[in-house]
Amino acid sequence: DHFILNELVRDVVERFRETSNHSIHFDDADEPLHLIADKDRIEQVVINLLSNAIKYSPHHHEVEVRVRHERNQAHVSIQDFGIGIPEHAFEELFKKFYRVDNSDTRQIGGTGLGLSICKEIIESHGGSIEVESSVGVGSTFTFTLDLAEETS
Ligand code: ATP
Ligand code: MG
Repeated sequence: DHFILNELVRDVVERFRETSNHSIHFDDADEPLHLIADKDRIEQVVINLLSNAIKYSPHHHEVEVRVRHERNQAHVSIQDFGIGIPEHAFEELFKKFYRVDNSDTRQIGGTGLGLSICKEIIESHGGSIEVESSVGVGSTFTFTLDLAEETS
C-alpha cells in the first residue's frame, strides 16, 4: 500500500492517549512522508513499541514519539524514561521469547515476542531498528524506512 507515515503514527498515538495514563507527546516531521509498505504491519510495529514504552515506564509517565525526515528516509523513534535495558541484552532483545530477567520485568510480564515481530517486519521492508537505553534512565527505539519517491 501507499500511505503517509506521519498520519499512521499520529493515529496510533491518539488511540493510545484515550486509554493510557501516560502523557504521550508527538513531535512530527515538517512534511508528509510517503511510504510504500504494508500499512497494517507498520502500524503493528508502532503499537508494539509504544505499548512497551508505556508498560516499561510504570513510574515516569512521559513518552516521546518523533517522526523525522532525513534524505530519502523516515525515522520513527519512541522514547520512554522507564526502567531501561542493560547493554548486555541489546543483541538478545529482538530474539523470540527473550525477556530481560529482573524483578521489574518479572512483575510486568509479557511473552517476549513484540520486538522480534517488530524486527522481522522492519527488516522485511528493507529497514532497520535500533535501541539506545540505560538502566534506570530510559529507552529509545528507532526504526528507519526508505521513503517512496514522492517525498525524497
Ligand atoms: P510481548 O510479547 O507482550 O511484547 P514483552 O514486552 O516481554 O512481551 P518484547 O516486546 O519483545 O516482549 O520485549 C522484550 C524484552 O525487552 C522485554 O521483556 C523487556 O525486558 C525489554 N524491553 C522492551 N522494551 C522495553 C522498554 N521500552 N523499556 C525497558 N525494557 C524493554
Ligand atoms: Mg512487548
